[in-house]
Amino acid sequence: MPRPIVALIDRAALRHNLAVARQRAGTRFLWAVAKADAYGHGVESAVAAFDAADGLALLDFAEAQRARSAGWRKPILLLEGFFAPDDLAVVERLDLTVVVHHEEQVRMLEHHAAARPIDVYLKLNSGMNRLGFAAAARVAAAVERLQALPHVRLRAFMTHLANADNGNPAQGRTSVEEQLQRFARLCGDWRGARSISNSAALFFHRGIADDAVRPGIVLYGAVPAPSHRAEALQLRPAMQLRSQLIAVQQLGVGETVGYGATFVATQPLRIGVVACGYADGYPRSVPTGTPVAVAGVRVPIVGRVSMDMLCVDLTRAPQATVGSEVELWGQRVPVDEVAAAAGTIGYELLCKVSPRVPRQVEG
Ligand SMILES: *Cc1c(COP(=O)(O)O)cnc(C)c1O
Repeated sequence: MPRPIVALIDRAALRHNLAVARQRAGTRFLWAVAKADAYGHGVESAVAAFDAADGLALLDFAEAQRARSAGWRKPILLLEGFFAPDDLAVVERLDLTVVVHHEEQVRMLEHHAAARPIDVYLKLNSGMNRLGFAAAARVAAAVERLQALPHVRLRAFMTHLANADNGNPAQGRTSVEEQLQRFARLCGDWRGARSISNSAALFFHRGIADDAVRPGIVLYGAVPAPSHRAEALQLRPAMQLRSQLIAVQQLGVGETVGYGATFVATQPLRIGVVACGYADGYPRSVPTGTPVAVAGVRVPIVGRVSMDMLCVDLTRAPQATVGSEVELWGQRVPVDEVAAAAGTIGYELLCKVSPRVPRQVEG
């Protein structure tokens, strides 16, 4: 028998979450963001579950190839575009839409002898200050150069928001409103399509009138903002990180658990040992008290998470024994709750489930 840990992927939940996003998006073009191996759920699962999306948004060529091999025929948007001149042959072969965010990419397009048209999203920097053209004159120059290329079709202007997940950024920090204004200024008299919304914008800034939206995290049943709960947004967790108890220990008063002996029993305790540790992608930084569900009952972690194991207090699950099922996150323990305990966000935990954990797809 293999080690009992598995990441169960619920395709029905992926489909459901896409339908929720679709409702918010209305008739806008919906790019289902599936970078980072579909936030850890597998590009192939995304291809199978997101057929109601208009396109898939990815980052790297290997994942684009996997999506095409899995049968995705609709558009694929590469969110960082291409990196070197040779990439453009792959862009053509896989029929990819590319983000152009830098003059260097314009130059590569100018020097490329294309056999077929390449669709381009031009990225404008409205305040995030990662990617994109930030000055109106440079936007205009890039547009002029791209429109002079017969093998380039300029499809949309896009930008990315720094604070859509944050109701009230601190005074002086880039707000959504400020970015929208800057984006509008940079767009000038551009009459074509615009793409702005990520998950947080789609759910929390409903006044944004763009033509193409790019939700990611919500499709996987987690929230873009820690102040919200997935359930309240009608989202269903699409991943259950599941394992089993592989040992039970009886502790006397004063005995400790795990490395550093950070937990000391103040009463006799039954302790369950779970086959899951930080080498599986479970965060080492969670404190004692972080919930996991054992045989359907939420119980607290005690002591430090180690590489391959973590320990739980079985007081509230007296029936639990070796072989009992453990949910690290999923339905009973939202990934966002574990993330908050670890001082991070659900995105990171979902992406970081390690390759040694087998994915098992259902639904
Ligand atoms: C990752 C990404 C998204 C999706 O963000 P979520 O917060 O997961 O919805 C949208 N747009 C761009 C440019 C991205 O890189």
